[in-house]
Amino acid sequence: MIIDCHGHYTTAPKALDEWRARQVAAINNPSAAPQLSELKISDDEIRETLEKNQLRLMRERGSDLTIFSPRASFMAHHIGDFQVSSTWAAICNELCYRVSQLYPDNFVPAAMLPQSTGVDTASCIPELERCVNEYGNVALNLNPDPSGGHWNSPPLTDRYWYPIYEKMVEYDIPAMIHVSTSCNACFHTTGAHYINADTTAIMQLIEGDLFRDFPSLRFVIPHGGGAAPYHWGRYRGLALGMKKPLLSEHLLKNVYFDTCVYHQAGIDLLTRVIPVDNILFASEMVGAVRGIDPESGFEFDDTKRYIETAAINPEQRDKIYEGNARRVYPRLDALLKKKGK
Ligand SMILES: [Zn+2]
Repeated sequence: MIIDCHGHYTTAPKALDEWRARQVAAINNPSAAPQLSELKISDDEIRETLEKNQLRLMRERGSDLTIFSPRASFMAHHIGDFQVSSTWAAICNELCYRVSQLYPDNFVPAAMLPQSTGVDTASCIPELERCVNEYGNVALNLNPDPSGGHWNSPPLTDRYWYPIYEKMVEYDIPAMIHVSTSCNACFHTTGAHYINADTTAIMQLIEGDLFRDFPSLRFVIPHGGGAAPYHWGRYRGLALGMKKPLLSEHLLKNVYFDTCVYHQAGIDLLTRVIPVDNILFASEMVGAVRGIDPESGFEFDDTKRYIETAAINPEQRDKIYEGNARRVYPRLDALLKKKGK
């Protein structure tokens, strides 16, 4: 079985974008805000967007199940206040839940949180509870920078984030550390802000001692861990200089890397530097980089090809495809076992 731990509903029906545009336009004039009931998306519309896109590609490429969350760049936690984020998160999470009900063998939902800059993170708990208890979410996306590229929240090791971590431990669910769109012109969203955030998260975790407080907390760092695997020697050296334990102890019992690195050499490096037990298969399609790589003749985000070609043995490949995901996402494992898988 091949589990893709990183997919977003990037192809959601246009009505969602239109509702959001009206919500954003009404931020300073709440009386003009659209009603929830004005958003109408039929099951057939959902089916059409998936059959043409994610499901088609999953079938063509041979992956079975995707952990599916709302479109990351559209979370835009910097827009409006908590109420705006809260309404938007509820809508997006419900839509991913409907996807998982229409295609229970192919999509399992992960939650977007109603984060808002400067707001107590405990405010995210009711939505997270709803997503886990009512919608069967097996994970969540945690935005380390709800400002959208201005980085004015405390580091991930700060107590500011602890209410979310306490809930994650209680539910035994991991978080993918995933920023949203950049509203800072210096940082291109998917080319700079995403990769910066992945790298920044790793360094924050090295500097702190978060996993001493939460030994069972698990984070997935997307996009191959940003620059961290490429500079692993730098991070090991910095950790030693800070008198931290070896990264195998300090980080790798709790931190996992996905395979959203869009070329063979990148995956070769990832699988050489990071222990196979810490690597999870993912493609993030249909997402950040669309189109065909002229060097390979295949789509950039067809990441299974790189795993197939990487210098790892079949047992290691199975861990990346399935075994590790079942360990990191126990609620997914339980769901699959219930279906006899
Ligand atoms: Zn993503």
